[in-house]
Parts: sequence; structure tokens; C-alpha cells
Amino acid sequence: MSSQLVQIGDLPGKGLPRPSTDGKTFYLETFGCQMNAHDSEKVAGLLVGRGYRRVSSYEEADLVFYNTCSIREKAAQKVFSRLGILKEDPGLKEKFIGVLGCVAQQEGEKIFQRAPHVNLVCGSASYHRLPEMLSEMEAGKKRVTGLSLDTDECFETEITRRDQPFRAYLTIIEGCDKSCAYCVVPMTRGPERSRPSDKVLEDCHRLVNEGYTEIQLLGQNVNSYRDPSPAGWSFAELLARVGEVDGLRRARFTTSHPRDFHPEIVEAIDTHPVLCDHVHLPVQSGSDRVLSRMRRDYTREEYLEKINCIRNAGRAISISTDLIVGFPGETREDFEQTLTLVDEVGYDSAFSFKYSPRPKTSALDLVDSVGEEEKTLRLGILQDRQRAIQLQRNATLIGRTFEVLAERRQKRDGQLTGHTSSHRVVNFSGGQELLGQYVDVRITSAGANSLVGEMVQNGSR
Ligand code: SF4
Repeated sequence: MSSQLVQIGDLPGKGLPRPSTDGKTFYLETFGCQMNAHDSEKVAGLLVGRGYRRVSSYEEADLVFYNTCSIREKAAQKVFSRLGILKEDPGLKEKFIGVLGCVAQQEGEKIFQRAPHVNLVCGSASYHRLPEMLSEMEAGKKRVTGLSLDTDECFETEITRRDQPFRAYLTIIEGCDKSCAYCVVPMTRGPERSRPSDKVLEDCHRLVNEGYTEIQLLGQNVNSYRDPSPAGWSFAELLARVGEVDGLRRARFTTSHPRDFHPEIVEAIDTHPVLCDHVHLPVQSGSDRVLSRMRRDYTREEYLEKINCIRNAGRAISISTDLIVGFPGETREDFEQTLTLVDEVGYDSAFSFKYSPRPKTSALDLVDSVGEEEKTLRLGILQDRQRAIQLQRNATLIGRTFEVLAERRQKRDGQLTGHTSSHRVVNFSGGQELLGQYVDVRITSAGANSLVGEMVQNGSR
């Protein structure tokens, strides 16, 4: 199926309200994680369903929306810098400006004081109210807010305007009930609420019918999924059923919390070839002392037990993680333990960051004892170590053949690029007709972050 056909936002969408905004345009920019990217796909679908047309620059838009991230200070600042630029726009008076997502929730109505040209502030826990808020805006209201966290609703839309033609995101759970000391998410995304399993499966079948072959199940903590329908499935049970959806080639999930990651999930992966050979299991630190201060609810040993369980699966499953350096009170010895953990696990990839204090988090009560210079130093050491591990692991793949979903053509060198089931990036030469196909590629060289290969078989199997 062509990428045009699967952009379902282009379809008229039966049963939708008659667009009252024909000819109006919107610009939507997204910051942050996959959850945000998918929320934006739904917001874009909602707007398209109301008759708005998407444009690629804020200058030409009637509606300018920023879907924001506040996981780190730098990310949060980005939206205010965008709003500053927007203030200088000569057409500003004709525009309606919205701040969505985590910064909206975190800053609330203070955004109106700091940037008076903003008209709408809406946190993700209130997205289900967006249609009503947009109606208020269309009726001429100048200030609209959606900031309640008291919700058991998930954000559903009749149209989701997906950005990728072959891989689709699908939310199964929103919010988070954990209380990790450094994290703003429970304050910005609200309490956990799972979608009924029948709706999730219905969406999977619909996506397959629309031509998507890979689905990524999303949630802040997918492992704590609890089916609210009478079936009452756990995450592992849901995963197994998704793995049985007819016509689906691949299913993945993110993010997992080690505390809620159980052997049944590995069993589901082991018995359902459609479920990808990859688990992202954020550890954050290798030191028990730091893990306890972070309120992660597991010890190094308990985490390593989960890793062992994954490593003992019937097929090789790649493992990635998230790491924070310089958390308040992290000593050199604690940091060394993170390094030894990274060595011991041998992650296939890792996202690592310097600790950044966030508003309303409990870590603010701790002294941010590690200086910026030291944080930078530790991050550099950690990233060098992880890079060496990745290089070494990837080098062992040279000569082997993997199935790769050809996802796009690189602008730089015209090569096709895609992912293996284990979520490794592979670049290879091939024609345009291969886009969207699963292709066998033999690996010829390996870098730390990607592999290069040559096609050994053309087309879908
Ligand atoms: S599990 Fe912890 S880190 Fe992840 S979203 Fe919830 S509070 Fe944040």
C-alpha cells in the first residue's frame, strides 16, 4: 500500500462533524517522546477532521500549536523560545496560539503571563476535551484551558493523522502511577488509565487493513497495563493477542518499567514471532543507593534478574536502556557501579542524560550535589563506554542476514534505511519500490549506531 493511502487523515472520515473551518490552516510542532509524537498525530487528525489543513511553517498558519516536553529543562525552554519568535510575527494578531503537552500542564495559566499571545493551554490529560476547547476557540473565546489531571479518559480520535506510512503508534495506556523522584510525568500526564483490550485489538486490525505492517504499543509504563474490560488481561496477555493479529508483521512496545516487567512478557515474545526481538528496559543507575534515592522500586540485583530472564529467552532479544548521571548524591563509586552494570548487561543501545532538576518532583528536596562539570565528565565516560560496547556487539553481526523493513531513503547518500526486528538501524542500496517491504539484508560493516549491508533477497516474504 502506498504511503498516500495510509495517511488516513486525508480521508473524509464518516460521521465527523461538518468542518466549519474550511480553508483555515494549522501548524503543529512536537517536542519529546514517542507518546508526544503520537498525541500530535491524534491532534492533527482532530484538526483535519474539523476542516483545517496542515502547513509546514507557522507563518502561513491560522492555528499554531506546540506539543511540548518538560522531561529536561532544555526541552521545556524550547517552547518559550518558539513563542518568543512567534511574538515578532507580523501576522500574530490573526493567529490562535496553543501550548499543549507537558509544559502546558506544568506551567498552567502562568504561560499566559509569560507569553500573553498564547490563547490555549492544554495538558495531555485533557486532550479528550480538545474538541470542546476548539469549539470555544472557533466561537471567538480568547483564552481556553484544559489542565485537570483528574481523569479516567484516554485520548481517542476518529482520525489519527499518522506521520509514518508503514509503522503505526498505538497507545494502550496513558499516564503513570509511579513516583520516580526525578520525573515530571505523573504530574503532567495524570494517573494511569488503560484502554480496553477489545479496542486495542480493533485498532490493530484496522491498522493492518490500512496497510501498516508494524505497530508500536505505547505507554509511559506499558507493563502496568490493566485491561478495564471484562477480559481483564495483563500486558503479557494483550501482547500475545496482538502477536496473533492476522496480517501484522511486527509489533513492539515501549516503555517498560523493570518493577512491572515479568517473565510472561518474555514468554509472549518467545512464542509469537510477530513480537519483535527487542526490549527497552530503563535502569537509570547501577547503584542501589541511587536507585533507592530515585524511588525506582528495584535493586540492581532484581534488575539483573529481569535481564537474565530476557537473555535466557529462546531467541536473541536485544536490550536497550535509559541512564541518568549526576543524580543528587551520586558519588564516584555510585557512578562506577553504573559503568559496571553497563559492562555486565552489554546493552545494544542506551540513551543517557545528565540529571536535570524538574519542578514539583521529589528530587528537588535533595541537594543537587554533582556539579555541572562533573556531570558532563561522567556522561562522556559513560557514553564512550557504551559506544565501545555497541561497536563490539554490532561487529559480531557482520556476515549475518537480517530482515529489514525498508522505511525511507536517506537524503545524504540515497541509501535505503530501516530497522531489524531487534531495532538496529540498517542502511543498504535498493530501489524506491522496496519502501514498505521486508527485505533480507546481509551485514557488511558495522558502526556503533548503525549497520551497513547488501540486499540478498528482494521483496516481501
Ligand atoms: S515510571 Fe518513573 S520515569 Fe517512567 S514516567 Fe513514570 S515516574 Fe516517570
